[in-house]
Amino acid sequence: MACIGRFAPSTTGPAHPGTLLAALLCWLDARQRGGRVLLRLEDLDPDRCRPEYATAMVADLAWIGLDWDATVSQHALHAHHEAALDHLAAHGRLYPSPTTRTELAHLGRRAPDGGWAYDNRDRGRDLPAGGWRASGEPLRCRLDDGIITLRDGSGDDLAQDPVAAFGDPIVRRRDGAISYQLAVVVDDAAAGVDRVVRGRDIATSTATQVALQRLLGLPCPAYHHHLLLLEARGKKLAKFHGAVAAATLRAHYTADELVGLLAWLAGLQTTAMPCRPRDLIAGFAWGRVARSDRLVTWTGERLVS
Ligand code: GLU
Repeated sequence: MACIGRFAPSTTGPAHPGTLLAALLCWLDARQRGGRVLLRLEDLDPDRCRPEYATAMVADLAWIGLDWDATVSQHALHAHHEAALDHLAAHGRLYPSPTTRTELAHLGRRAPDGGWAYDNRDRGRDLPAGGWRASGEPLRCRLDDGIITLRDGSGDDLAQDPVAAFGDPIVRRRDGAISYQLAVVVDDAAAGVDRVVRGRDIATSTATQVALQRLLGLPCPAYHHHLLLLEARGKKLAKFHGAVAAATLRAHYTADELVGLLAWLAGLQTTAMPCRPRDLIAGFAWGRVARSDRLVTWTGERLVS
């Protein structure tokens, strides 16, 4: 049976070269298998997401030559998210957690993604009499303790005990917004997604997501986490974010030039020869994609590596 993949960018800013590379790899993975691929605009964070970023994202992805079998905005899937919270509450898994980030910073235990780990201290708290909808506090989901064994399509071992490494995840924020960790699991399952291709920066969240799938009785897709484009920020390397937006790239490159460059950065071409995404389908294989992250610089006119 043909696979279903998805590209799921957060609409918290303009697309950048790393976004376009992630979209290209995800699209190639599905198309090379003769599968379907969806575009899901992750727009649940009311503080950071803007409709104009979503509109620009759709246009920029179309400009580089990617097409989607369906496009959906995550906020439209709210009924699924509520049903998942109902399910977790009915199984005694939800609890209010007033512990703040400042308190977690004070505790001082780092999570694998560089944030602060939560020590599950609120596990004994009950939901208010009116249920999860009546809670004005962040809600967390009590996961099962223990190691989730998991291997990435790249061969990386993603085994982790998410309760120990991160702590129980927030599933609904104080402001009522559904968290990424819950929404991603629910939405992938509702769309029948069976291949999740995304950047390596999210790899450490996968065990938490698999633990949530198990509590919700949802199937586990195959995961493949790929290289990132990095930029030098001071002495540190950071995800290539923000240094140059797609609108600027479009002023300096044709779509085919940019796709050729991205394909070269990913290891799919030996030169940055201009090409279209569909020219890359037949030759696409993860064995040809570079495993190591690439350091990229924006000169003001060109991307160089
Ligand atoms: N929305 C997330 C991001 O843009 C990615 C979600 C995913 O692929 O699981 O970083």
